[in-house]
Amino acid sequence: MFPSFSLRYARLPARLRADCLPTPVTEPRLVAFNRELADELGFDVEDFNAERAAEVFAGNAVPEGAEPLAMAYAGHQFGNFVPQLGDGRALLLGEVVDRRGRLRDLQLKGSGRTPFSRGGDGRAPLGPVLREYLVSEAMHALGIPTTRALAAVTTGERVFRRIPEPGAVLTRVAASHLRVGTFQYFAARRDSEAVQLLADEAIDRHYPDLAERPADERYLALLEAVVGRQAELVARWMGIGFIHGVMNTDNTSISGETIDYGPCAFMDAYDPRTVFSSIDERGRYAYLNQPVIAQWNLARFAETLLPLIDDDSDRAIARATSVIEAFTERFDSCWQAVLRAKLGLATREEGDGALAQDLLDAMQAARADFTLAFRRLADALDGAEGKARLAELFDDREALDAWLSRWRQRLAREDVDEAEIARRLRGTNPAVIPRNHRVAQALAAAAEDDDFAPFEALLAVITRPFEAPAGEVDYTRPPHDHEKVLRTFCGT
Ligand code: AMP
Ligand code: MG
Repeated sequence: MFPSFSLRYARLPARLRADCLPTPVTEPRLVAFNRELADELGFDVEDFNAERAAEVFAGNAVPEGAEPLAMAYAGHQFGNFVPQLGDGRALLLGEVVDRRGRLRDLQLKGSGRTPFSRGGDGRAPLGPVLREYLVSEAMHALGIPTTRALAAVTTGERVFRRIPEPGAVLTRVAASHLRVGTFQYFAARRDSEAVQLLADEAIDRHYPDLAERPADERYLALLEAVVGRQAELVARWMGIGFIHGVMNTDNTSISGETIDYGPCAFMDAYDPRTVFSSIDERGRYAYLNQPVIAQWNLARFAETLLPLIDDDSDRAIARATSVIEAFTERFDSCWQAVLRAKLGLATREEGDGALAQDLLDAMQAARADFTLAFRRLADALDGAEGKARLAELFDDREALDAWLSRWRQRLAREDVDEAEIARRLRGTNPAVIPRNHRVAQALAAAAEDDDFAPFEALLAVITRPFEAPAGEVDYTRPPHDHEKVLRTFCGT
């Protein structure tokens, strides 16, 4: 059933990893399987057998050709450097070449202790596993670069966190698991040979065009490329109200994918200061702080590359600094592009940024729901009824009217009619996102009552986020007061 493994990381020098087998679990049961993704990865889905799959995705059977390993990495957590983290509860099985020729990592998360576990049990509770499954698949459907979820199994064992919970294992798929923290681990040990190997691996896997560049430009170009992808990624997050929640350097992917869905959450009412994570006491990773933090993380990445950028350390610092400083402009141009798309604009004009900001300000004043307010812009173009649906989200109707007429004057300068703009808007501004309260309800039903129906129903709608969902449950509405999720937890 498994495609054959390429084993790239396992062939790098031994000090980059710890070889380690998964710890078998008592009663593996497959609770989610992503057939479409499996097919894309080259699995023989016709030959699929749920019992065998449960064994493999629980780590009870290692698939043929896999050489499981825990990757070494370090990281800045909430600004503090931890020289050794590493995969404490995850194992890379190996890489496969998907049907489009791309290398993809397959990783088990929650598969038992590793040499990097420190005090941890190496396990994952079901709730966080299903959260990652739901949110990463929703992100993918929203068109945002992300790791994917291939399978979730329950283990038949309990894990003990704040309360005992069912244990689970997630199979995660990533373009790679190279993180800023991977580079930091070796830079902190002054192992510049390993840093160069990692940089070459990153270029080969994610930025192959750079391999052509002369050696004295290549690693600065790598930094520039990662800066570009992170700038774009964070702008895209913010365009859907996503708050990552734990933007530590070990959770910052070199490929530019979203990775680590711990305490992540979506903003309902628009407020740029929003924070959900219970451990983020000072709001370091608040919605609006995300670009500044991404830049900070990239500066840490730059530090690891300095010896490769220039033999002269002052010159290396100067060159790297200018690339890091350019993040601000890169991010801003990505963010403006996101906002223009959210307003249905394909062309660019001077006043577009102010037009978007004025809407955001009105949303903030009214605590309007971020997702609904943008989604209903299209409704407002349909006629009076649609416009009323938008207006009910705002306090100051006159100000909204004034804004709408400015917007429509601007739309008139696009080359297409309003019906086409409305279509564009509905393909850009989602109708459904994995709202925190719905995710919480789905996780609770699964973990407390062994009822996976809410999880499956939610997964079905959030993987078609631009369609208005039919059915009894209204997945588009914001939470009622009693449903509101005020805090999220790492759940590790
Ligand atoms: P995370 O919060 O998932 O980004 O994890 C941060 C670090 O803690 C990583 O090195 C993880 O491997 C490690 N870790 C998290 N949970 C556990 C656990 N239950 N057992 C062992 N290590 C863990
Ligand atoms: Mg992590």
